[in-house]
Amino acid sequence: MADLFNPTDEHASLRRMVRDFAEKEVAPQAAAHDRDERFNQPLFRKLGDLGLLGVTVDERFGGSGMDATAAVIAHEELSAVDPGFTLAYLAHAMLFANNLNFNGDDAQRARYLPKACTGEAIGGMCMSEPGAGTDVLGMRTTARRDGDDYVLDGAKMWITNGAVDQKTLGDVFLVYARMQGAARSALSMFIVEKGMPGFSLGQKLNDKLGMRASPTAELVFEGCRVPAANRIGAEGDATLHMMRNLELERLTLAAMSLGIARRCVEVMNGYASERQSFGKPLRSFGQIQRHIGESYAEYMAGRSYVYQVANALDLNKAGNRLDSDGVKLYCSTMAKNVADRAIQVLGGYGYMGEYDVERLWRDAKLLEIGGGTLEAHQKNITRDLATVSVLR
Ligand SMILES: Cc1cc2nc3c(=O)[nH]c(=O)nc-3n(C[C@H](O)[C@H](O)[C@H](O)COP(=O)(O)OP(=O)(O)OC[C@H]3O[C@@H](n4cnc5c(N)ncnc54)[C@H](O)[C@@H]3O)c2cc1C
Repeated sequence: MADLFNPTDEHASLRRMVRDFAEKEVAPQAAAHDRDERFNQPLFRKLGDLGLLGVTVDERFGGSGMDATAAVIAHEELSAVDPGFTLAYLAHAMLFANNLNFNGDDAQRARYLPKACTGEAIGGMCMSEPGAGTDVLGMRTTARRDGDDYVLDGAKMWITNGAVDQKTLGDVFLVYARMQGAARSALSMFIVEKGMPGFSLGQKLNDKLGMRASPTAELVFEGCRVPAANRIGAEGDATLHMMRNLELERLTLAAMSLGIARRCVEVMNGYASERQSFGKPLRSFGQIQRHIGESYAEYMAGRSYVYQVANALDLNKAGNRLDSDGVKLYCSTMAKNVADRAIQVLGGYGYMGEYDVERLWRDAKLLEIGGGTLEAHQKNITRDLATVSVLR
């Protein structure tokens, strides 16, 4: 019988490999890195040894050349133990490496992807700004041509992997900017590296509610000189690149929600058997059954939706916007609700760190904001359905 969640043997063995690594090496460090708000760079490099940092990158450039379903499996399994660490992985592997692999040219790929695939260089993507998030086309960062260079001016906000520690800038970024005087919808994209003149770390952003093991930063571009060879595609073409990559970003953020939900269902299910109240296990009480039953069914509904979309998504093409918005809209709130129920089932123990569900609940909230807010998904879905009268 076809397995929706592991369509091929290769997917099944990828899942086994990532789950084994996640449980043995990622889970033990998760609580401490969350508490200290610290990015685990040595562990991150091990993802390179496993072929995960370039999971969707062409094998010619050091990647594993796998598909969207493989990316979903990797994010789901890592997120079940450490969503913060997984968010740093997503920013690197999806927002930087996948984006460059599908939108860059061979010279750009050959220059940057091999180091990204081993983890020697840590990457990210700069779209959001202090004054423009949901209204991404309202960005103010500008680019102008000056001889063989472009000159970038502006600031980018909330950039995952923007810093690797309190003071150190990340290595390499895809940066969206508008050519001076260009139309609102015409963005351009540039590869910007640490060390390019005028590029600096504004600040590492501390005191996040969740996802604390992923570093977040403000980055500054002050007369930043970028060689013209580092422009991706033609001037003004990057809005399409952005839309194409956002589909995979949203799908893998939804996969992260699945990992959170799975772990929370496992924890509340196990606890409900062990904990006795009024001489009976918690699972014998109807109100607890509702928490467990609804959580499991919602998790499985979200999981089926995510894998159905992943199996149909062609990384070479845009065109899955409706359902990439749909999976993230549904799964992010589903995961937050499941984590909330897990805390409730565990009572006081759920409120403490020992069972992980309070951390997963804090991490789940980010998924309703990052990569598109719930409201943005609602608007996009409604816009895309405006011309549809009959659903297939
Ligand atoms: C931990 C973290 C990591 C992130 N990583 C990255 C990254 O690596 N790269 C990157 O580029 N960005 C990143 N982001 C930014 C993220 O994508 C934005 O925060 C998000 O898109 C929302 O933008 P905003 O914060 O400016 O909120 P705003 O856009 O100001 O929205 C505020 C509120 O208003 C609502 N709203 C806005 N406009 C409308 C409207 N027209 N109709 C109805 N409601 C509306 C929003 O839904 C939201 O509820 C990250 C954010 C966080 C918190």
